[in-house]
Amino acid sequence: MSPQDKICWAPDLPARLATLPRPWVMTNGVFDVLHRGHVSYLQRASQMGASLVVAVNSDASARLLGKGPDRPLNAAQDRAFVLAGLASVGLVTFFETRTPVELLRAIRPDIYVKGGDYDMETLEETRVVRSWGGQSVALPFVEGFSTTALVQRIRQPQGSNWPPTRQAAFLDRDGVINQDKGYVHRWEDFEFLPGAIEGMRLLQDAGYALVVVTNQSGLARGHFTEQAYQALMRAMREALEREGVQLAGVYHCPHHPSGAVSGLAIECDCRKPAPGLLLQAARELNLSLTDSVLIGDKPSDIAAARAAGVGLACLVHSDNPESAAGHPLADGHFDSLLDCAKQLLLQRKQQKMAG
Ligand SMILES: [Zn+2]
Repeated sequence: MSPQDKICWAPDLPARLATLPRPWVMTNGVFDVLHRGHVSYLQRASQMGASLVVAVNSDASARLLGKGPDRPLNAAQDRAFVLAGLASVGLVTFFETRTPVELLRAIRPDIYVKGGDYDMETLEETRVVRSWGGQSVALPFVEGFSTTALVQRIRQPQGSNWPPTRQAAFLDRDGVINQDKGYVHRWEDFEFLPGAIEGMRLLQDAGYALVVVTNQSGLARGHFTEQAYQALMRAMREALEREGVQLAGVYHCPHHPSGAVSGLAIECDCRKPAPGLLLQAARELNLSLTDSVLIGDKPSDIAAARAAGVGLACLVHSDNPESAAGHPLADGHFDSLLDCAKQLLLQRKQQKMAG
């Protein structure tokens, strides 16, 4: 069967579906530039039933998703053809609307799968699928892969700033630099972790530009204001400067999809594990991502580093339960920022002596 034979337009759906063994699994997406995360996702989705039907956003419907004026890069027919070439995919069809609800009603799959950390209970798709006794399941993507990040990396400007020369140490804030007390937003509550300042000084002296990259969903949730956040960061910078530590940049994501503050309650591409903050810093500060290192305390930090193409991603232990489990994609696990900085510099010294 050639890939083209697996592509099916709406009028032919009933006849084609009748030939597919049940249970039918259906999922949908843009699948613009297929990467490892997509292939692994579709493989896992297909294993939930006997046949996997993939509904691809038409070009018009993909543009409604706000990924950028020039997305999708590949036309719907071409995206469908690539998907149809995968062994896990049984049938590929298209939908023109923002959500696939109408198509769901036409196909009536036994299982509807959505890629990502969705709360399926709140989705209309779930209500619809359950109306004929079907199930609705969220299947998280393997972290560390992103078409948007790939496109940005390809498009990095190659002007006078090329190739980028500075290496950065990207530092998560809460749990790495300061005690993570949950939505810290007042200087009175800000407490540097033992050795954090010394660790930063070591990295700075070794030539790393220090760049803080921090998720601040407390802004989207309405726990504190942008003003309060900025005041806290000024106080932190000043305290560091008194200790001889200069920050090259501080980048934060104020968003959260289930936030309460309008404008901030969105699916953004800067909240880690998305790589947006790292890519923005690299562009603005002329940083070489492959020569840089990230130090974080959560799996989302490591995943963001991998997605952005940061050379080394180090996990430090914090009180956050997420840090205890470790991360398969981390290049090392350390007790603290200071411990991590010492090990990194030791490694560098040994490499220099060997080379
Ligand atoms: Zn964001």
